[in-house]
Amino acid sequence: MSSTNSNYPEIREAVAKLCSQYPGEYWRALDDTDTYPTEFVQALTDSGFLSVLIPEEYGGAGLPIEAGCVILEEIQRSGCNGGACHAQMYTMGTLLRHGTEEQKKKYLPGIAEGSLRLQAFGVTEPTSGTDTTRIRTMAVRDGDDYVINGQKVFISRTEHSDLMVLLTRTTPRDECKKPSDGMSVFLVDMREALGNGLTINPIKTMLNHATTELFFDNMRVPAANMLGAEGKGFKCILDGMNAERILIASECIGDARFFVERASAYACEREVFGRPIGQNQGVQFPIARNYVETEAAALMVYNAARLFDEGKPCGSEANMCKLVASEASWHAADTCLQTHGGFGYAQEYDIERKFRETRLYQTAPISTNLILSHVGIHELGMPKSF
Ligand SMILES: Cc1cc2nc3c(=O)[nH]c(=O)nc-3n(C[C@H](O)[C@H](O)[C@H](O)COP(=O)(O)OP(=O)(O)OC[C@H]3O[C@@H](n4cnc5c(N)ncnc54)[C@H](O)[C@@H]3O)c2cc1C
Repeated sequence: MSSTNSNYPEIREAVAKLCSQYPGEYWRALDDTDTYPTEFVQALTDSGFLSVLIPEEYGGAGLPIEAGCVILEEIQRSGCNGGACHAQMYTMGTLLRHGTEEQKKKYLPGIAEGSLRLQAFGVTEPTSGTDTTRIRTMAVRDGDDYVINGQKVFISRTEHSDLMVLLTRTTPRDECKKPSDGMSVFLVDMREALGNGLTINPIKTMLNHATTELFFDNMRVPAANMLGAEGKGFKCILDGMNAERILIASECIGDARFFVERASAYACEREVFGRPIGQNQGVQFPIARNYVETEAAALMVYNAARLFDEGKPCGSEANMCKLVASEASWHAADTCLQTHGGFGYAQEYDIERKFRETRLYQTAPISTNLILSHVGIHELGMPKSF
């Protein structure tokens, strides 16, 4: 164990114990049939791990985001996939930080006890892509409701969630002073909306991620479900996005640890030419380098988590830690596959599955180029390219 994975030892041990009941066979069977890991998510919910960030007054454990990082890191490290349920941690932050007391009392206790699932975060649209201010999904006030029309794409876990945090426009972009003005956030009760203006279509992808496209056709959402002020929604989701980047970076650290541990173990046990392959520096050094990269990235993740927990600005730190952590996990995935030779491609080793799963984090929740652009502009003062 290194200094970067010795925090919250009891939580680490408990998560690892729970995950040991969901071995590779479990994930492979789900992967083959694109099935959601319902039992795994239920077990995490029952153990209270998904509600650690909810304050005690609303039924959660009231722990800092660092604890959430530890939980997701250990899930990934053990070969499981937190992508099935990580959104509960960060979407809840939008409700917690920007919801009214009435909204928090109405929803947070149910989320904490597991009777309400808040696993969906609807931002991406097919035409706007990364350029979030160009979203077209429009919410128009009509009496006590807003009527929503539009479309989202790649919105994950919607079929396994009761609630969704949804970003819409309430004022067209060209009528706003700033492009980020005029957007509003709603907490959509999908149990009511499904079939009443909301259509969900699954999208088959290279990994088992339960992602979907959504169509809104005059979907009515009570005005009481708006989170934060009308037109100020972009600010509300930024907090959630920073939390998302920090937590997903922790998943990347967990993935990287999985790959480094598997690669070094295999390199010690596999003998070719009469000696363990790990005795060859051509095999040993890439794994050692992946370990170093993972340790460095973990320090950046915990730095960003600390700033977030202290309520300090952490946009750049959240972005940067996600970039280095996703690169550490991707490099470790590649080394691990190479170290296993042909066996890395055999499904029963779980390397190829984790390889596909960790590749996602180069693209989502924000792609590497967009992080570099943020750093170039906001940290280094260089001109914006778009
Ligand atoms: C499995 C999966 C699950 C997802 N889950 C969710 C979810 O739950 N909720 C949600 O809202 N979204 C979700 N997403 C969407 C994800 O966040 C986006 O795919 C991602 O942000 C990139 O957006 P895009 O696909 O539109 O790419 P685009 O914006 O079209 O970009 C395509 C490529 O061009 C690059 N690029 C674009 N503009 C520039 C530029 N100015 N300079 C340099 N490079 C540029 C990008 O970096 C990217 O590599 C998910 C995606 C996947 C694949």
